[in-house]
Amino acid sequence: MTGIRASRGQSARPPDEVAPAQSADVVGQRGQRGEAAASPSPGGTAARPPDDVAGPRPAGRGWDYAPAPESREIVTIAAEYGLFLDGTFSPAADGREFPTINPATEEPLARVALAGPADVDRAVAAARQAYEQVWGSMPGAERAKYLYRIARILQERAREFAVLESLDNGKPIRESRDVDVPLAAAHFFYYAGWADKLEYAGIGGASGAGMTGGDGGASRTGVAGGTGGASRTGVAGGTGRGMAPRPLGVAGQVIPWNFPLLMAAWKLAPALATGNTCVLKPAETTPLTALLLAEVCQQADLPPGVVNVLTGAGQTGSALVGHPGVNKIAFTGSTEVGKEISRAVAGTGKRLTLELGGKAANVVFDDAPVDQAVEGIVNGIFFNQGHVCCAGSRLLVQESVADIVVERLRERLATLRLGDPLDKNTDIGAINSREQLDKISALSAIGEAEGAQRWSPPCRLPERGYWFPPTVFTGVSQSYRIAREEIFGPVLSVLTFRTPEEAVTKANNTPYGLSAGVWTEKGSRILWMAQRLRAGVVWANTYNRFDPASPFGGYRESGFGREGGRHGLAAYLDA
Ligand code: NAD
Repeated sequence: MTGIRASRGQSARPPDEVAPAQSADVVGQRGQRGEAAASPSPGGTAARPPDDVAGPRPAGRGWDYAPAPESREIVTIAAEYGLFLDGTFSPAADGREFPTINPATEEPLARVALAGPADVDRAVAAARQAYEQVWGSMPGAERAKYLYRIARILQERAREFAVLESLDNGKPIRESRDVDVPLAAAHFFYYAGWADKLEYAGIGGASGAGMTGGDGGASRTGVAGGTGGASRTGVAGGTGRGMAPRPLGVAGQVIPWNFPLLMAAWKLAPALATGNTCVLKPAETTPLTALLLAEVCQQADLPPGVVNVLTGAGQTGSALVGHPGVNKIAFTGSTEVGKEISRAVAGTGKRLTLELGGKAANVVFDDAPVDQAVEGIVNGIFFNQGHVCCAGSRLLVQESVADIVVERLRERLATLRLGDPLDKNTDIGAINSREQLDKISALSAIGEAEGAQRWSPPCRLPERGYWFPPTVFTGVSQSYRIAREEIFGPVLSVLTFRTPEEAVTKANNTPYGLSAGVWTEKGSRILWMAQRLRAGVVWANTYNRFDPASPFGGYRESGFGREGGRHGLAAYLDA
């Protein structure tokens, strides 16, 4: 607790500036309500700087990072953006537009065309034509060249993408620079490698030597091939060469705002590699990197119509989902909208994959190394402001170590720096929209009213923009809404357990089933847990790790279908 003590002497702001999540618990911890360290960096604040973790320092001395803002100059933001249709940018047919803003400052960034039904018609027609005349019949090795080119350009323009993503989304530049953009490029590289090898993927069209159809493969997600393999992620297959499976045609793809570029890459790369053409609908609060990606498609000389980008809100998404010219819908977003889309698509013959919400358990056993587990808990729920579908939003900690884990967690949270997303030292950026901030605030207030103890480290929230401090609830019961509902913000609910069986029961006590984490030094316990946790992804002694070669997806209300890896090809092939 050295750092917290040290920060006490640095009170530099009046009590009313303390983050609203301060509670009696914080006051008890810190002795005086309203004490806090001030940060000299614009918009940035931390209770104590991370170097303080190493050891004690004299109370009252404030050390801090100098501001290290990334320059905005690298990216040129136009005043207006059109829809990307048939290889060119054009206004919406009815001329409608909407603004997109920087959530960290509420500053308007640009006006973006709002696609209506006539634009959806044009986009689907362009995609159909490109599919039939060029892309669907192009040899895989040729398609691969375009994907490699897109990946290389993404790498070349990485800083531009990272800055634009942080401006439009509010996420820290450290994350957009080190996670979102490199992973997006990696996705295109990875699927470029598959484009000319689809007949070896073990998906559909089986006829060649060594390739057998699904004789007994019990798959939890329903796409099985191969020889009796029970596949948890859904595609089991032989290793020989079969017939090249066919693409589906035109894919309508609707994505959320939490990883705007990365979600676009997750959708486009496998669809293009398998010979489909795409109409992509980015989220209304984060359209800019999808439009920059459209520019990259032009730069890569991708044939017109192969990728189309329609900006707009739910109505645009709904028109795309309902369009009769679309063969496949790939949706990532909330469970509520996912259910609506399921109903709209039922009986149409369109193929559907849904990547929906989650309420993951991050389970810490008493033999786990505490500091490592604390890093995993922080990464699990505070990465990307908790705007992560697979966030470890429920911490299940073994009762015997609960006090020490929560104490260390609080110490660690006091070192996190909240503020200017473009500052390279920032850990916690802005909440993406006023609407999302209201939702996080409302659910947190309900958590308190239900009886949980709320705690946040002292930190100053910038005056403009949408901000929420990292928040931990202890004393949470399974019936509380903060333990059941997806908050999609930097809010952790802590529950305890005594035995591994109880941990499994509590972890699975959710309608979702996207991800889970297990922290223990025993390999046998990891396997025991992984077999019992009903989650598409189980991380062991780590959290929020992604790789394009690794399939990702959920069960139950978290959706169905897999993105990433060989399994991700199945979603775009006529298997
Ligand atoms: P959302 O469902 O509100 O919106 C997602 C997208 O769907 C947006 O582009 C939106 O414009 C569009 N949309 C809204 N209504 C629609 C309709 N009726 N028909 C068609 N499209 C419609 O979700 P959100 O708030 O943008 O994103 C947060 C949610 O996304 C969270 O629940 C999160 O868990 C989930 N998510 C899941 C994954 C995953 O891989 N499972 C990944 C990221 C986010």
